[in-house]
Amino acid sequence: MVKKRLQDAIRERPLLGDGAMGTQLMIAGLEQGNCGEEWNLTHPERVLAIQRRYVEAGSECLLTNTFGGSRIMLNRHGNAAQGPEINQAGVEIARQAFGNNDGYVIGDIGPFGGLMEPFGEFTEAQVRSAFEEQAAALVGAGADAVIIETQTSLEELLLGIEAAQKAGAPCIIGSMAYDVTLDGSTFRTMMGVEPEKAAEFMEAHGAHIVALNCGTRMDMQRALAAVERYRSVTRLPVMVQPNAGQPRLENMKVIYDESPQQMVLGLVPLLEAGANIVGACCGSTPDHIRAFRRVMDEFLEAKGIEVAQHES
Ligand SMILES: [Zn+2]
Repeated sequence: MVKKRLQDAIRERPLLGDGAMGTQLMIAGLEQGNCGEEWNLTHPERVLAIQRRYVEAGSECLLTNTFGGSRIMLNRHGNAAQGPEINQAGVEIARQAFGNNDGYVIGDIGPFGGLMEPFGEFTEAQVRSAFEEQAAALVGAGADAVIIETQTSLEELLLGIEAAQKAGAPCIIGSMAYDVTLDGSTFRTMMGVEPEKAAEFMEAHGAHIVALNCGTRMDMQRALAAVERYRSVTRLPVMVQPNAGQPRLENMKVIYDESPQQMVLGLVPLLEAGANIVGACCGSTPDHIRAFRRVMDEFLEAKGIEVAQHES
């Protein structure tokens, strides 16, 4: 049987995403400022262990450990030449983490980490080329989708979408990082992009799923507002990955302050609003995803939708 494309599968029932990778890598021993993507080659077993825990908790979609896997980001660590291998390994590890479970591997492209001319030092051609190389490696290794995530500008997002298209990605997800404004009345990206504008832009440029992740003070309630705003302008499916609350420093360690019990309270409203994939971003853990799984299963059962069988 041919596996359904991700964008088709989520029209039948919502799927559960995964939780944070970066903060989990730190727990596994990655030092702040070091290259977590390099671990796909040097410590694949540690990346695999993290993703296995998400699968055991009930994740049906895994993002590859390739957030900083563009040549420009890797170059900061002297790893630019290994870009294709690092991204390919990221897909293979995520696939391996699913074992016999039939999950979706989402190739992760994060921001290139700088500014383009005339504001910064990078040319559009450099960024385009870096994204094209990364997308080609992810799709070539068999990713079911490509997500261009934590985006704040439509210019950079478009380069990512076009790179994924050129690579032949079967599904393209655009994901914006919103910040709540100081007065708390609304949210937009750092570059001033509103959710309606982002969703219309993504749909016009051929993305299959509109998404949001990370951001500042974007809790589950704000994520719900974002889903509603997306839904007001597009019929494309919506993916949501909020942070586990806000980071704060405790004994020189970054702690996120929303427990699984707190965060999961916002899940049913998100599902009722029509969120098609729900996961979580920075600070979330397998325990958050396990709590999501339990509540999502109850929601699906109440709706008479067959609950997937997971091995755990
Ligand atoms: Zn995040």
